[in-house]
Amino acid sequence: MRKDGPRWWEYEIAGIITEPGSTVRCKTGTWRSVKPVLDRQKCTGCKRCWLFCPEGCIRFPNGKESISIDYDYCKGCGICAAECRLKAINLVSENLS
Ligand code: SF4
Ligand code: SF4
Repeated sequence: MRKDGPRWWEYEIAGIITEPGSTVRCKTGTWRSVKPVLDRQKCTGCKRCWLFCPEGCIRFPNGKESISIDYDYCKGCGICAAECRLKAINLVSENLS
């Protein structure tokens, strides 16, 4: 297993959890091929992206100014970008080299 977490083929069959808390070590951000990037000028802090992110990767600890995306776990599904009505999240290609 790599230091930044397992690759998809290294998971248990059917993704079973073999020990409590082990999913925290699975940095699923390594699966990403595109990355959501926030345009803070456009963002109003409505939290629609936060509501729809299936991985809970979007955080607002202290209001709009503190919005962040946890790239350790963001899988790059693009739902946040699709749901943002102000187009404040853009998907950019990951550097896969
Ligand atoms: S949905 Fe768009 S405007 Fe709303 S908080 Fe997310 S990035 Fe900002
Ligand atoms: S790309 Fe998907 S997983 Fe990543 S922050 Fe957006 S909705 Fe969440």
